[in-house]
Amino acid sequence: MSGCSERRSKRSVGLHRAASAFAASHRCLDSTGQMTIDKLLMTNRIQPRSHRVRSTSAHQFHLPRIMSLPGTIVWPRSRVPLEPGQVMLSFDDGPNHHPGTTDRLLDVLEQAGVLASFCVVGRQAARRPDLVQRIFEQGHCLVNHSQTHPFPPPTSSARWLSEIDECDSVLANVLGQPDFRSSSFRPPYGILTPSIRRALRLRSMRVSPITYYAFDTYFSPANSSRVVERIVRNARNHGGGAYVLHDYRYRRRDSRRCAWPRSSANRSWVPDATRQIIERVTAMGFSFVSLDARL
Ligand SMILES: [Zn+2]
Repeated sequence: MSGCSERRSKRSVGLHRAASAFAASHRCLDSTGQMTIDKLLMTNRIQPRSHRVRSTSAHQFHLPRIMSLPGTIVWPRSRVPLEPGQVMLSFDDGPNHHPGTTDRLLDVLEQAGVLASFCVVGRQAARRPDLVQRIFEQGHCLVNHSQTHPFPPPTSSARWLSEIDECDSVLANVLGQPDFRSSSFRPPYGILTPSIRRALRLRSMRVSPITYYAFDTYFSPANSSRVVERIVRNARNHGGGAYVLHDYRYRRRDSRRCAWPRSSANRSWVPDATRQIIERVTAMGFSFVSLDARL
């Protein structure tokens, strides 16, 4: 066996070990959850691209490594206080400063009378204060998703504290409420690390829950109906759940060299997909709740 294929084989063993550990720590995994893990592994197979990465430190950021870091959970399936038949929708990384996405999304939610959670990035909020105000005025929950969306594994608790505080102060300025503090935090990239937990404890904040991630960032207008199918099927199989869609793709230098490099920036399909999800899930007799508001 050549050195290279030996290394690959060792990595593959490590990868399956990490996947098994992940599965073991999430005993409630069903066929849908398992599918998610397969997809995680698939994502990782296209991931390393080390030949394009100059910094050797970036190499440590691919998914099995992240999943095997002590105390680190990818897409935490936190205990979610949802009752049977309840669905929570959340929209990450916005507001989208490109016209025609967040505003159409808010139209869809308003027409359907549905309240959701908007996990906003402070920098994006500063670009479109009008949309933040509209989110708030419509009664949706504003969730802190950090100021600059840093990649979690190398980020310290001190940096998380300033990320959280800066995002909250942008929201407070935009809303004209100096005392505004968000009560929930959504970890960037869905990666919950010990340093994030420490920062959240110090700020008495909760993690905004997700029960299933449909990998919507990998879909474009051409195949977005598969995201709708995945979420509706998961809600049917589980009697509800907390779901995430991405309103904007937050793109930074460190995003391109870490776990999710090939995601699609085209988010124009999200409002229409949301309308379809709402119609189909409502037809199943389910109701929508803004869970973060209750945490
Ligand atoms: Zn995000």
